[in-house]
Amino acid sequence: MTLAMTSAYLDWNATTPLRPAAREAMVAAMDLSLGSPLNPSSVHATGREAKKRLERARQTVADGLGCAAADIVFTSGATEANSLALLGHPWSRVLVSAVEHDSVLAQRADAELIPVDGNGVVDLGGLAALLVDAPSPTLVSVMAVNNETGVVQPLADISAIVRDAGAVLHVDGAQAVGKMPFDLASTGADFASFSAHKLGGPAGVGALYANPAIPLESRLKGGGQEKGRRAGTENFIGIAGFAAALEDALSHRDWLVVVRGQRDRIEAEARRIGGNGLIVGGAGADRLPTTTSLAIPGLAAETQVMRLDLEGVQVSAGSACSSGKVKQSHVLAAMGHPHPGDAIRVSLGWETTADDVHRFLAAWSRMATGRFQGGRF
Ligand code: PMP
Repeated sequence: MTLAMTSAYLDWNATTPLRPAAREAMVAAMDLSLGSPLNPSSVHATGREAKKRLERARQTVADGLGCAAADIVFTSGATEANSLALLGHPWSRVLVSAVEHDSVLAQRADAELIPVDGNGVVDLGGLAALLVDAPSPTLVSVMAVNNETGVVQPLADISAIVRDAGAVLHVDGAQAVGKMPFDLASTGADFASFSAHKLGGPAGVGALYANPAIPLESRLKGGGQEKGRRAGTENFIGIAGFAAALEDALSHRDWLVVVRGQRDRIEAEARRIGGNGLIVGGAGADRLPTTTSLAIPGLAAETQVMRLDLEGVQVSAGSACSSGKVKQSHVLAAMGHPHPGDAIRVSLGWETTADDVHRFLAAWSRMATGRFQGGRF
């Protein structure tokens, strides 16, 4: 029995179940490596076979993202891809939006914050002002989609401003691919990070798209793999799963319509119960159909998550921290949210059922009803 059968899993932005297509590709890669050790860097015949398969996977990933295969650097995930983009080139200045994932924010102590509006959308005027007389090379890092609120950034506008200023754009695309139309070329990004486990692939593998015109030096010192941009023997099995998951994700998108209805139903019911007291993070912006951020003012997110968990409903408090500790959301704080410690993130996916939504709403209503009564808010 899977956990998903015994509980309602509504934490898809944290990670997703493995797609059967990804599993099949990984099992095939594992079976292959039973008989022939697969190191794509080896020059002998089995090494060459491994290389051929690795390059096939690279082409699949590149096709899915809309770039050249040579511009894909395989990494251990979006965290490492973000690190490589922010630290792999001698940037004179680095600007990051205030709502970035910690794996962007934590890379550089000298990064300057780009302000966002009340919905968490990058303040375009603020960005342009920060870029006046920007030294070369300046890197701007803005995520495609926020992991806590699902807010989609206006990347075409952002990249136009970045380009006008002669700066370089990095996009953290971890939460976007497979959940909305995402075409790398139209984002105008010079660098973009991706993660397999957000789209039905295995954890521990991802990629950085890197504009070949900008030199990038591996953060890890060692072999010359990935054209010197990421040392270490490639995760052959994981990469096979990543490529298959991406291909599968891009060819099955009907669920997004269903999920939008489910998410809207959750918000409508939450608003009915919470009235003006309920805060839906980023509700005024373009958002992914899969995500909602619901705050019950005065009730700590951590408490909400635990109470829902006791009722078999799994959500998270803002971003899921690896330590298991929950802190006040820096994303909501940057948005000027009045209760940044009191919001849960509910995120849905392709296997979310009407019953999951029903279970969430029943448990959330039990928890919320009392809180919103008595004119407390
Ligand atoms: N960026 C964003 C926006 C994310 O949501 C995540 C995962 N929470 C990451 C980066 C990190 O990805 P990975 O787990 O592959 O390192």
